[in-house]
Amino acid sequence: MIPRPGSTASLRQTNLEAVLRQVRSAGGLVQAEIARRTGLSAATVTNLVRLLAERGQVAVAPTLINGRRSQLVTPLPGDGYILGVDIGRSHIRAQLVDLGHTVAGADHVRLEPGSSSQRGLELTAGLYARLLSDVGIDRSAVRHAGVGLPGPLDRANRQIGAATVLPEWMGQDLEERFAAALSLPVMIDNDANLGALGEYAWPPGREVSSLLYIRLATGVGGGLILNGQLYHGADGTAGEIGHLSLDEVGPLCRCGNRGCLEAIASVPAFLGVLSSALQRPVDVDAWVGLARDGHVTAVRLIEDLARHLGATVANVVNLINPGLVLVGGPIAAVGETLLAPLRAEVRQRAMPAATSRLVIERSRWGDDAEVYGASRLALMAVWDETSTSER
Ligand SMILES: [Zn+2]
Repeated sequence: MIPRPGSTASLRQTNLEAVLRQVRSAGGLVQAEIARRTGLSAATVTNLVRLLAERGQVAVAPTLINGRRSQLVTPLPGDGYILGVDIGRSHIRAQLVDLGHTVAGADHVRLEPGSSSQRGLELTAGLYARLLSDVGIDRSAVRHAGVGLPGPLDRANRQIGAATVLPEWMGQDLEERFAAALSLPVMIDNDANLGALGEYAWPPGREVSSLLYIRLATGVGGGLILNGQLYHGADGTAGEIGHLSLDEVGPLCRCGNRGCLEAIASVPAFLGVLSSALQRPVDVDAWVGLARDGHVTAVRLIEDLARHLGATVANVVNLINPGLVLVGGPIAAVGETLLAPLRAEVRQRAMPAATSRLVIERSRWGDDAEVYGASRLALMAVWDETSTSER
């Protein structure tokens, strides 16, 4: 469990991370400087540094600064590792990360669309074994895994819900199956939720408290950070921007509804148009490449997608007033061709008061935001285990 927002454990964790981040980014700091940079009191910093030293995350040694005795705090490599995994319709990405957010190794494999969950589990386990060997660490050093999956997740049953792009994986306790395949404790979450988390919380972190992350791929996913916390909603389906309705009598969507953003701005349909125009099969990456080269039809279809997306984002902006809208996933690689008409549409349709300071930009992690978020989820689980065991 993630510490409850506002709880003592949550506050202490936030402060621990702030101290550790300062020490790591500076390479070493005296305690007074940590207090100055974090805004925490000297006594709080002393306690937090002692805890970090007990955990083996920092070393503390006496030093002389301007003739005065002081304690120099230096970072130590994290005690252990976690595994982050991001699974999409046609890819599996994984990374091994130490407890200080340093990525020790990362790799990916192609997942054949339509693969069974068993195939996905085997490929993930193989990727994990290869990463362990490449990085040169033993399996016993890895403490937790976070796994991102496309589509809404039923958090109670830990199953992937209807409207997923992996229908073959439905009806299974995926947390349990991944835990068995990897021989690790596992937490799963929706991939776009993890994209939001990776963008928000991966150091150096975002300077806003609320953001909307959109993952543009074969489907359109969304994740929300509200008041500094990943927001799941009552059943775990919050943020599903692809299934907001744009037209009550519009085309049928795979979720069973009509006129959803995903059904109107349908990426498979756009690819079909482009494929027949070019008389050869075109996938998402090829579409992005053509649009970047200025291919008229490819650009026009990106602009169409941006306008439909903008109409939907404007509603979300009116509802939750985020400080930041980030676009990730493979289609975001097209850059301003998508972002410029998206911004224009949002500004035209949302309330001026909600957009005057709103920033809309591309995900800083490109296609890796989800796997960073998956790693972050696993790191939070390890930190929570640590603080629970100390109570
Ligand atoms: Zn739908």
